[in-house]
Amino acid sequence: MTRGGSVAVVGGGIIGLSIAWRLQQGGADVVVFDDGELGAWFVAAGMLAPGGEATHEEPHLVRLLEASNERWPGFAAELGVDVGYDDTGTLSLAMTADDLAESARVWTRQKLPLLRPSELREREPALSPRVRAGVYSPTERQVDPRRVVLALRERLAGHVVSKRVDKLSEVDAETVIVAAGCGTAALTGLPVRPVKGQVLRLRGEPGLLRHVLDATVDGRHVYLVPRKDGEIVVGATQEERADRTVTAGGVHDLLRAAIELVPDLAECELAETTVGHRPGTPDNAPLLGRLDDRVIVAAGHHRNGVLLAPITADLIAGLVLDGVADPLLEHFAPGRF
Ligand SMILES: Cc1cc2nc3c(=O)[nH]c(=O)nc-3n(C[C@H](O)[C@H](O)[C@H](O)COP(=O)(O)OP(=O)(O)OC[C@H]3O[C@@H](n4cnc5c(N)ncnc54)[C@H](O)[C@@H]3O)c2cc1C
Repeated sequence: MTRGGSVAVVGGGIIGLSIAWRLQQGGADVVVFDDGELGAWFVAAGMLAPGGEATHEEPHLVRLLEASNERWPGFAAELGVDVGYDDTGTLSLAMTADDLAESARVWTRQKLPLLRPSELREREPALSPRVRAGVYSPTERQVDPRRVVLALRERLAGHVVSKRVDKLSEVDAETVIVAAGCGTAALTGLPVRPVKGQVLRLRGEPGLLRHVLDATVDGRHVYLVPRKDGEIVVGATQEERADRTVTAGGVHDLLRAAIELVPDLAECELAETTVGHRPGTPDNAPLLGRLDDRVIVAAGHHRNGVLLAPITADLIAGLVLDGVADPLLEHFAPGRF
């Protein structure tokens, strides 16, 4: 017996696949249509950082980010394979006095104690002696989005169809869930815009870095996400553009900040340069909920789609399987614009 009737998910990125997995577990008859393009998930670093991004002016978004962060350990364990979930934590860092003045406002709000340079280098020996101050956040973790998508695709084997959907009217299902990232605008007319991000992947000695590092270096924001196998993801530019060009300036800025922060990175192999597009919305919060009786939207996750995958999947699956709109959804209605 199926629950929730027939459901088609348009978009096989981290959001669409997570929703489809929860629906399948709940007994729905689900199919995912994906056009085979590499979505933002392929580029994303996989920082699970509910505190760093959001400001206190966005309390509903902060609540959603924190609630999803709490669900990540269970979500990763349930996938049953190594998806690179790592709870070592994040060091947020400031290189100069000006960088510190900028970062201190966020750190004070997070109530994290300031660590001196010697304490920071005890935790992370490869840090530059120029680093002025920082904080340790044990609840800001990481996962490898490429591994997560692979694991979800395996769970959904036989239910992911390679197909580009151009019109929702051509989809034959009782419920259609649009989780097409930046492709959502063309399908629904909703205001989802691409926000370009250039990302580098370096390869060095495993263990060169222990934590995720999230830093401001001479006014420039950079993060380093070290995987266990020696890969270090360096991100990211943030540009209001839709092109896919890796630029000399983008790579230069990222490498300069990264090497200022951790000089030994100069010896690493530059293994990959990529571009992805964050699906942004006018208020930078996701669009989650019903568009009409047949169509549900789960898109516009902007900089936090990896972090928000577990809660998005639970909330949207609840809507389809039980017909229940969780109160958490209230502030993210797609019709708010
Ligand atoms: C540089 C960068 C760094 C990031 N870092 C982080 C991070 O550290 N932590 C974090 O939480 N988030 C991060 N993100 C954000 C995160 O990647 C996105 O929010 C997330 O991937 C959105 O998931 P999605 O499934 O909605 O979209 P996507 O991952 O883009 O997937 C959408 C899928 O739908 C497919 N599709 C589109 N249109 C159609 C169509 N018409 N028919 C069929 N298929 C279609 C696409 O090809 C794609 O496969 C980052 C993003 C970027 C670009």
